[in-house]
Formats: sequence, C-alpha cells, structure tokens
Amino acid sequence: MDIVRVALDVPLPRLFDYLAPDSAESDIGRRVTVPFGTGSRTGVIIELAAASEQPNDKLKIVTAILRDMPALPSEWLALCEFCARYYQTPLGEVTSFALPPMLRRGKLPRMKKQESTEIAVPSAPSARDTVPALPQLLAAQQAAVEAIAGIEGFHTLLLHGVTGSGKTEVYLRAIAAVLARGGQALMLVPEIALTPQLEGRVAARFPAAHIVCANSGMADAARARGFLDALSGRAQIVLGTRLAVFMPLPRLQLIIVDEEHDASFKQQDGLRYSARDVAIWRAHQLNIPVVLGSATPSLETFHHAQPKADARPGQPDGGTGRYQLLELPERAVAEAMPVVRIIDTRREKLQEGLSAALLAGLQLRLERGEQSLVFLNRRGYAPVLACPPCGWISRCQRCAANLVLHLADQRLRCHHCGFEARVPRACPDCGNVDLLPFGRGTQRLETMLVERFPEARVLRIDRDSASTPKKWQALLATIHAGEADILVGTQMLAKGHDFPLLTLVGAVGADAALFAADFRAPERLFAQLMQVGGRSGRADLPGEVLIQTEYPDHPLYQALVEHDYVRFARSQLGERRIAGFPPFSFQAMLRAEARTMEQSLAFLAAARNAAAALADGVTLYDPVPMRLQRLMTLERGQLLVESVSRPALQAFLAKWMDKLYALKMPGGLRWHLDVDPLEF
Ligand code: ADP
Ligand code: ZN
Ligand code: ZN
Repeated sequence: MDIVRVALDVPLPRLFDYLAPDSAESDIGRRVTVPFGTGSRTGVIIELAAASEQPNDKLKIVTAILRDMPALPSEWLALCEFCARYYQTPLGEVTSFALPPMLRRGKLPRMKKQESTEIAVPSAPSARDTVPALPQLLAAQQAAVEAIAGIEGFHTLLLHGVTGSGKTEVYLRAIAAVLARGGQALMLVPEIALTPQLEGRVAARFPAAHIVCANSGMADAARARGFLDALSGRAQIVLGTRLAVFMPLPRLQLIIVDEEHDASFKQQDGLRYSARDVAIWRAHQLNIPVVLGSATPSLETFHHAQPKADARPGQPDGGTGRYQLLELPERAVAEAMPVVRIIDTRREKLQEGLSAALLAGLQLRLERGEQSLVFLNRRGYAPVLACPPCGWISRCQRCAANLVLHLADQRLRCHHCGFEARVPRACPDCGNVDLLPFGRGTQRLETMLVERFPEARVLRIDRDSASTPKKWQALLATIHAGEADILVGTQMLAKGHDFPLLTLVGAVGADAALFAADFRAPERLFAQLMQVGGRSGRADLPGEVLIQTEYPDHPLYQALVEHDYVRFARSQLGERRIAGFPPFSFQAMLRAEARTMEQSLAFLAAARNAAAALADGVTLYDPVPMRLQRLMTLERGQLLVESVSRPALQAFLAKWMDKLYALKMPGGLRWHLDVDPLEF
C-alpha cells in the first residue's frame, strides 16, 4: 500500500495517484504536496491503494505529506464527496474550496504557544457559562426550545416567526443545551455584515465559550486558525456565512441556518452549492438536528414543513411533512406589527416617484424627530442615460446591458461586469448636449429628498456608499446615534438591523418584480418587503409601511397588509404546482458561454443530443440565450433539465457529465452545470 490517491484542484472529475512509500492509514485526510505538470500542488489524500491503473514506473512520488495538523476527519471527506457527487463538481475542486486559502496552499498559520494542534478534550461548562438575567421565554419559544431539545438523531425543524419574534433567543437556548453536553454548534447567517453583530450577542450570552467566526471577509491567517480550532475541537460555537458549512467539527451536535430563505446561501460560481441544503445533508449524515429559521421561509422549505395531504382529508395542497414546523406567532417584546398600507399610484402624478401620502409621512416623521426609510432596490442615479433626438442610450460594450448613471462621481457603470466610463458631455452619436437620465435609482431619490426636505439629514445606504465594512459600520453608527432623518436604501438595510427611531418605511419601484421572468421573483419581493417592514416600529412608536404600487389588488401586497406569509406561500405553491416548478420538480441548468451565441447554443444542442439515450424520467428543454445574453463579451446560453424525481435527475446528471466532458468544444467555450439553480 504505497500509493496515495489525491484530490487536486483540477477541473477533471478524477483523483490522482502518487507513490508515497511512507504513507499510512492515518494519512487519509492529510494535505499532501505533489509534483504536477511542471510545478507542484497541494491536495488532500482521499485513499490509499495497493495498485494504480497506471504502471508504477509512470507514477510520480509525493513531495511531502503534511503531518503538521490533524488529518481531516472521514466525516469531512464524506461531506466533500457528497458535494462533488451532488453538484457534479470534481472532488479536488470541492476539497480545495472547503479549506481556507492558507491551508489550501499547504501552509499553516502561526499558533499561540498553548494552542497545540492536538485534538482537544471538551471543556466542561463552567459556572461562567451561565448568564444570570435571561428573559422569561414566551410559551411558543419555550415549546420550540423543548421541541429542539427533544430531538434525538436527525430531524429538520423550521422555526417560523417574524423579525423580533425571538428566534435568536431560541437559537441561543438550543446552543446552550449543546454546550452543556460538551458538543459543538454551527450557526450560519447570510451576510458577512451580520456576523459581528451576532457574534457580540453570542459572546455576551456565552462569555466563557470559544467562539469562532468564518467568512470570506476575514484575513487568511484568522480564517485558517478558526478552521484549526474547529477541527481540533477547541471551538464550541462556529458562526459564519455559507462557507462555514464546511468547517470540520468533530463534536457537532446542532446546526442552525438563520434566514434560511436568503439567496446568498447559494453560491453562484465555482462550487454552486446551497449551504442550507448541504447543512441538512450534513445533519443527516451526523444524525443530529438542524434548525432552519425565517420570517419568510423559502417555498421549498415551507412545503416540507406542511403536513401531507392525506393527513388532512379534503386538502389537496399538502406538503411533504418532512420538516417539523415551530411557529413563533408574535413579537417577543411588546411591539405591534407595523401597519402596512398600499398606496395606489395609478391616478396620481408622482413627484420624482414619490406619492403625496409618502411625502406627508416623511414630513410627519421629521416633525416628530423620528426616522424614515425609503426603500428602492436600485442603486445609482438612473438606470440609463439617453439622447432622445437620436435614440442613443448608454450601453455596456461588453454586456447586453445598460450602463447605469452614477452622478455622484460622474461615471457610467455596468453593474454586471464593472466596466466604467466618464459621463459624456455630449451624445457620442449626434453631439447633442442635452442627455437625459431615465428611471430612478437611490442617488436620484437622495437628491430629490435633499431638495424637498432641506432641513432633513438624508443618508443613502447602498453598495456604493457602504463599499467597505468600515463605511458600513460608520453609516450604521450614524443611524443609531439618531444623526439621520431620512434613509434612502437598497435591500442592504433590510437585513438584521434594529433601528429604534425608525417608524416609517416607504417602498417604491417594487412592482417590477411582480412580472419578472424569474418565477422566484415574487417570493423574493415578499421576503424583502416583510424584512424591510420589520425594521420599523417599537413599543411606544408603532411603525408604518407604505407600499407604492400600480397593482394595489395584487395578492402579494394584500398578504403583506395582513402580515400573512402563510397565505402568500400557499397561493404561490398553488401556482408552482400547476406550472410544475420547484418544489414540485427538480432542476439543473447547463450554461455555456462562448465568443458567439451560435457556438454556445450549438454546444448546448450537442449536449442535449448526447442526453437523448440517457434521459429517463427527465425533461430537457431547448437551449436558449440567457436573459443577460452577453456578459464580459461572452455570449451565453442555457439548457434547463427538469424531473419530478430528484434521484432520477441525479442519476441522469452523473451519466450526462461523462458525455459532456467528452464533447468537442470550440476554443474559448466554457460551460458549467448548476444543480438546483436559483437564477434564471
Ligand atoms: P428574532 O431573531 O426573531 O428577530 P430576537 O430573538 O432577536 O428575535 O428577539 C427580538 C428582541 O426581543 C431581542 O431584543 C431579544 O432580546 C428580545 N427577546 C426575545 N425573547 C424574549 C423574551 N422571551 N422576553 C423578552 N424579550 C425577549
Ligand atoms: Zn458590462
Ligand atoms: Zn444623440
């Protein structure tokens, strides 16, 4: 047994064999440096073998097996193997992605003296682990905590409750129970910006616990150290964004996925995994509970948390009954839910996009010294700059998209590829100097509000004004200090921040999502508006949400007025069932990009032909151009694959991938497969 089979970060679905005369069983899961091509690479040893398919004299010898940290446990390797299989991604790409960059490169961070990299013994909970003044749980919270504590083995629970209903408090109690048993807990959150805030709250609750954060914004060494702390068992709580689902945790007893519906749990490039779905698989593998929390669960999750139809006679629209639903029906602190009002803008002449009702609401908050937020999910000044006489519009040279006008710094920017140019003084086609901005973004709204309310302090919060974590923290501090009166912001503001002075939220420009081509757009809009509305109001200052729309009777808005997620979810699921969309089917998307659309579509057509003999119980649609056809000068097409059976889809994809790797491709063409795609 002197051959090691190594997973290397190479886009080929296979392992690589090397001679390693001194290798032992205990080296499985260790990093290893090997010669590759003309250079060298670091990978992970997956197996030992007595013989290779290649003759031994053709095999190269490993440079070094890195024994300076504990081997990655078999559970971790199995997790990576699952992802490789499920997402049809080479194992070496998965293991490489799952390791922090520093460890991936074969290095180790410098550790403090006492932090040997031996496996640590769990520390017994000390008296300091209990914090005296815990709030008395509400009955629904108590029931949820008990339900989680009562789970033995694998189970998925959905904790459904609006912002402020006390979900985090439930998580903290569940984590406390895990720590008391000497276990480790993993908590995933969607946004890097939210981890410091949550870390503060967790640290305050568990002052003696070893807490580790994991997100892509961290410095290399800190991330590697956190990984080693988790692997050695020293870390008791890991908090992180989607990539934290790959933290090795030898005593993991509980996984929590907060805001489980959030699209950022799905990675959109490389390994296109859903951290929520991987978390559920991992909990299953380890036979532990996983808690998904949300005010607006994804429809997939909600469907699993609904009882089966046959359990409720006369109810044709049952779910799968696979998850346990835990409801937190009211806010934990004495806060009323905000009053949601729909502003019908069909017959009104708006002032720079704002209705009289919204303007009056802003004025009233100003007089009372309270804060308002105008929510518009489009940054920049205007989505396009145009020359009306000749028809010129600002287009990106590299993408099939308009350049967005950013007046603040006099630039035209492509929000897809990052291309930018100076705002032209005159039309490049006809020389006309009266170029007009069309449509409205946050900058334009800000300008208008400053003019309209000269006495107000207007603050814009979007990815331009909060381009670094530091700027973002500074903006939050300004809001908390009450040094802003009117906030203009994108969805950045919607997530997980409490603004005690905020009593009015106005939503403008939301209608576009009602009729978007993407069938998930209404689900996202509902979640966004619920979330942004949830920011307003407190005990003595009830909040108000004004939604401007030309479709005041739309069921989505009506459900918002009633704060009725369940009604919205049921009606959406009804539509999805009829249309055969997820969760009533399972999908994968093959995408190709090339210099010409003909090349992309031809590749996809060949891929479709190659599937003909394999496609059992699977539907392949026609190759079509993607909605954003051209990105970074590449022409993009897509081919949707669908099945009512996940196993059938998986079996098909595995066989299809072999064919795809063998297909002839024109130079420059690239393709990838996206399993359970979120974007269309
Ligand atoms: P969510 O995570 O659902 O938004 P939180 O757990 O953050 O809700 O609770 C919202 C607020 O209410 C927090 O300030 C929290 O400390 C407080 N809180 C939670 N549960 C209780 C309770 N049972 N009694 C009093 N306050 C509570
Ligand atoms: Zn572009
Ligand atoms: Zn012109």
